Parts: sequence; structure tokens; C-alpha cells
Amino acid sequence: MEVFTWSRLFWMRNQFVKRCLSIHHLSQAQSGYDVIVVGGGHAGCEAASAAARMGAKTLMITHKIKTIGEMSCNPSFGGIGKSHLMKEVDALDGLCCKICDQSGIHFRILNTKKGPAVWGPRAQIDRLLYKKHIQNAILNMPNLTVITCSVEDLLLMEPENPDHNLTRKTCGGIVLENGDHIRSHTVVLTTGTFLRGQINIGLEVRPAGRLGDEPAIGLAHTLENIGFTMGRLKTGTPPRLDGKTIDYSKTKPISGDKEPMPFSFLNKTVWIKPEDQKLCHLTRTTEAVNCIVKDNLHLNRHVQEETTGPSKCQIMLSSLMHDLKICKMFGDSLSQHSAIISFIDVGFLAMALLPLPHHDTIAY
Ligand SMILES: Cc1cc2nc3c(=O)[nH]c(=O)nc-3n(C[C@H](O)[C@H](O)[C@H](O)COP(=O)(O)OP(=O)(O)OC[C@H]3O[C@@H](n4cnc5c(N)ncnc54)[C@H](O)[C@@H]3O)c2cc1C
Repeated sequence: MEVFTWSRLFWMRNQFVKRCLSIHHLSQAQSGYDVIVVGGGHAGCEAASAAARMGAKTLMITHKIKTIGEMSCNPSFGGIGKSHLMKEVDALDGLCCKICDQSGIHFRILNTKKGPAVWGPRAQIDRLLYKKHIQNAILNMPNLTVITCSVEDLLLMEPENPDHNLTRKTCGGIVLENGDHIRSHTVVLTTGTFLRGQINIGLEVRPAGRLGDEPAIGLAHTLENIGFTMGRLKTGTPPRLDGKTIDYSKTKPISGDKEPMPFSFLNKTVWIKPEDQKLCHLTRTTEAVNCIVKDNLHLNRHVQEETTGPSKCQIMLSSLMHDLKICKMFGDSLSQHSAIISFIDVGFLAMALLPLPHHDTIAY
């Protein structure tokens, strides 16, 4: 039988402590990532998948798995202003074009009366299908781990080169809401409309990232404290109408292209048969509708002064305020099997001031 002297016991204790410390260091090292992406919206999905494709050990942290790839508003992709951006993402082997080709329900090249340089591929997307496909891609991607939690703070360190007067702090990772630290030298913030976001419904204001989601307050404080200049952007949701209540005989149907052109350079066709595409319906406001809108401007914070700021999407209240006589509106389905129609216009939401749900989110 071994006899334990005090010195032997002391040595064993030290060995035990050293071993614990090394395990602790090991688990800390393992918990570090090459890249941490905060957010699982469009930007987060592209950033995380790009890093993982490059072979980086990547972590996506987002609030909920079920909202990864959520399409916020009118679920469409592309158009004259944004399709070139999608093509650039596709050229980098990004996700959105490939997923649009698997989930679009109405494909159309806009502006074809003009030269090819200004054509704008646009697709109305089935928001449920889009989410399903992108979540499948993200959750099965090699090198990519996804966790759900709120990031409340950044791990900030003194810059490696203090003489570099533009660098005030170096980011070495993130702090989760439960206090855990995760280290990485590359932290990408793709927090969308969540940083101290607010939703306005008519005159009501409430804090929210988007409808049904909490805003990100802690991270907004951190960015402010580091010295970033913060500003507000505003955006608006087009009203949703029950398609069964619309008299389509008074609208002009617009069909998708006979040969839908895929968004992705890698695809030759899209998933849906041309004849199965959903119609889009064009209509116009009348003088009477314009009057109702103008008479109710005071019921909407969106047009009031304190919510000024560049509008991220097409808010057309301004069109009526600038005395346009008639506003065009396009009615699009939200998904393949949904009766809900989203009415959006070339730059305006004519229904926005009617007593219908209308959410304007304003985010830092
Ligand atoms: C009401 C409304 C209407 C809109 N309408 C349009 C439109 O018609 N057309 C258009 O192009 N854009 C519209 N937008 C803008 C829309 O936000 C963007 O188009 C797009 O969704 C932005 O993608 P994103 O990836 O940058 O951010 P988001 O899609 O907003 O995703 C942000 C992600 O970050 C996560 N997140 C945020 N903070 C944290 C944190 N602290 N910790 C962990 N996770 C965090 C969120 O959970 C979410 O997954 C609208 C937005 C809103 C709110």
C-alpha cells in the first residue's frame, strides 16, 4: 500500500490543479473561432457561409433558428436597384441567388424595353420555401456552427499598435447575454434593424428588432461607447390584404416571364414551371383614396419630423405629399399557397395611412 506523505500529497494536488488549468485552457482554445458572425438574416447567412466556404472555423450567433434567412417585408429579390448586388454575391459563390432559384414564384426581367445594361431580374419569393432552403444550407454547412443567444457586448482590447491613431480598440470576441465569452479575432456584425430598433404602428411606438423580436440594446450601447456615429434608418411594411376580398377584374394581371431566367450563374432553370408562376396584379389609387391618405397623414409617425432619416425601402407617402395624382400599386403573393397579398408601389404605400396594420421599423 502506498504511503502518502504531506509532500507527496502537495505534489499530487499541484498536478491536479495544473491538469485542470490545462483542460480549462484547452476548452477555452476550442471555444475560439476564426470568424464569429452575429446575426442570421440575409447578410449573416452570406457572411457565415462565405467564411465557412473559405475553410474558416465559423460561428453564427443569432436569436432564433426559426428566423434564420427571414425575409422581413415584401418577399422579393432583385429588381433594378439590387439585382447587380445579387449577381456579385453569386459570383462569390454566395447563397441567395441559388436559393431564389429554388423558391421564386414569379420571375420577371424588368426594364427589357431598354438595353441589357439596365435590365433588372426580379423574383417574388415564397418566403416559407426560402427560409426552409436557406436554413437547410446553413445548418448543414461544413465548418459552420450555429448557436442561438443574444450578443450583448464585444470583448475589447487595447490595439496592438497604439501608434495607429484610427484604431481605438481591438475586438477579440463577443460576450453573450449569459455572460459567456467567445473569442475570435474576426467578428462580423450583421444585426439588421435590431440595434435599439423601434416599431411604429400608426402613432404607437414600441421597441423591437422587427415584429415579434426584441431589439438589441446592449450591442447598440457598446458601439456607441466605442465612438461609432449612430444614425437611424427607417423602412416600412406594405399592407397585407386578404386575396379573397380583392376584385381582381379591376386590376391588370402581370404574368411571370415565359422562360424564367435563373438568378444564379450556376443554374440553367428555376424550380417552378413557367405556367405555375403566380400572377402579380397592377392597380392604381383613385382621387378618393388619395384624399383618405392625405386626410390621415397626422395619424402616422412615419411622415412626422422626428422619424426622418434615409428610407431603406420604397416608402411612397412622400409621393402623395409631393402631389402625385395617382399611385401605381403592385399586389404580390407572400407565398405559393397563401391568400395574403402584399400591396407595394413603385415608391409608396398608399394604404399605409388607412386603419390597417402598418409597421415602420426604425433602427439605429
Ligand atoms: C418592417 C420591415 C420592413 C422591411 N422591408 C423591406 C423591404 O421591403 N425590402 C428590403 O429590401 N428590405 C426591407 N427591410 C429591411 C430588411 O431588414 C433587410 O432587407 C434585410 O432583412 C436585412 O438583412 P440583414 O441580414 O442585414 O438583417 P436582418 O434580416 O434584420 O437580420 C438581423 C439578424 O441579426 C440577429 N441579431 C440582431 N442583433 C443580435 C444580437 N445582439 N445577438 C444575436 N443576434 C442578433 C437577428 O436575430 C437577425 O437574425 C425591412 C425591414 C423591416 C423591419
